[in-house]
Amino acid sequence: MHAQEAILRRQSARESAARTYARALPIVPVRARGLTIEGADGSRYLDCLSGAGTLALGHNHPVVLEAIRKVLDSGAPLHVLDLATPVKDAFTTELFRTLPRGLAEHARIQFCGPAGTDAVEAALKLVRTATGRDGMLAFTGAYHGMTAGALAVSGGARDVRVARLPYPQDYRCPFGLGGAHGAELSARWTESLLDDTKSGVPAPAGMILEPVQGEGGVFPAPDAWLRRMREITAARGIPLIADEVQTGVGRTGAFWAVEHSGVVPDVMVLSKAIGGSLPLAVVVYRDDLDVWPPGAHAGTFRGNQLAMAAGAATLAYVRENGLAQRAATLGARMLAELRSLTAEHPCIGEVRGRGLMIGVELVNPAGEESGPGESGPVTSVVDAPGPDSPVLRAAGLDTSVLGDLAATARPHPPAPQLAAAVQRECLRRGLIVELGGRHSSVVRLLPPLTITDEQAAAVLDRLADALATAARTHHG
Ligand code: PMP
Repeated sequence: MHAQEAILRRQSARESAARTYARALPIVPVRARGLTIEGADGSRYLDCLSGAGTLALGHNHPVVLEAIRKVLDSGAPLHVLDLATPVKDAFTTELFRTLPRGLAEHARIQFCGPAGTDAVEAALKLVRTATGRDGMLAFTGAYHGMTAGALAVSGGARDVRVARLPYPQDYRCPFGLGGAHGAELSARWTESLLDDTKSGVPAPAGMILEPVQGEGGVFPAPDAWLRRMREITAARGIPLIADEVQTGVGRTGAFWAVEHSGVVPDVMVLSKAIGGSLPLAVVVYRDDLDVWPPGAHAGTFRGNQLAMAAGAATLAYVRENGLAQRAATLGARMLAELRSLTAEHPCIGEVRGRGLMIGVELVNPAGEESGPGESGPVTSVVDAPGPDSPVLRAAGLDTSVLGDLAATARPHPPAPQLAAAVQRECLRRGLIVELGGRHSSVVRLLPPLTITDEQAAAVLDRLADALATAARTHHG
């Protein structure tokens, strides 16, 4: 038996049933550079999963390797808890240099345990301590991590302290409208819940949101809506937490995704790309929130020197080489090319994204039309407003917009099996893609920001071919 098969067999015999990517991607990477991964059997793949959006510069970028080697060769300690070091000092300086103005001048940083989810826990704890309140505002479809607090503010969870608000989306708009009207109704709904003393919403310590929802199915927040969230929270003294774990470091076409809207959050949660492919997570926040006591968020692994060096090199490289702008330009072109496929493939429900965070939602055009939202009720603690609700009336919108709402066409149901087939066909063609969305029916592309035009064309060719084959042979 080939070494690759033997390793895969041992993996499935020994590793947890909870393993994830390994199930859909039965490969054994042994070498990697840039966009390319090579398996133990010699197969080569274009990697558009990029460590779930971690690898801003792709695999083993020379500046990252050089930064790591420099630390190793210097004899610096690799483990220092949260002590000060020149490596950490340089990382913090580079990170603060990139922060949105308005936050950079007043920023504090908390180094957290190495995963994004730990930085989310720290952010929730920070705002709860600072406000003395316990509730949290979070959004449908959100993904913030797998530890208890982060899970509670994610879309699939239930927690009495968390009020679930509708995240705007066009294709499956909870209000049936999409566009600016749908987003505005989502903002009005949020306002009304906060101001209605009988809404049942616990006094919020903060609002946490992703500027582009990633795992939830690639939903970019409209800029105007994000500004509304900023106004609504600022007017009520509620700290706004931007989870930029996946959207940060140029991914969406701006260095930080909040910059598209000009919104300055009170707290930013950062991980993935900031560690230059090694584990690193931080919370950055306005200094007046810094009222938690020493040890409030401790942890043994908060001083990963190699990750800080790799991260500082990555941040500097993205900044100096204008890679956010590159992501914007190339991402727009890739989105346009993918959209051009919708004409020949009725199974493509929607193509959406921002920068190099791209999703293709697959649907079953022969299936029954589905109701609004992919996952049943829009909210978990309160009911969504019907078309005749006071929220809609109070929205002051042109009521003709609402007139034929009941009759408007609804999107086709999601097609998770087809999406899985597309992922398999992609792999057979040497392309690694991720699946996401409420029903795992969204094919996701998260290529490194360093991807060339030729590589992008190869990715799209392989994806289009995989889609054509999967659509021919799979239904539903
Ligand atoms: N927040 C967001 C927006 C994420 O996308 C993720 C991971 N996909 C996390 C938090 C959690 O990060 P980690 O998996 O490193 O805990």
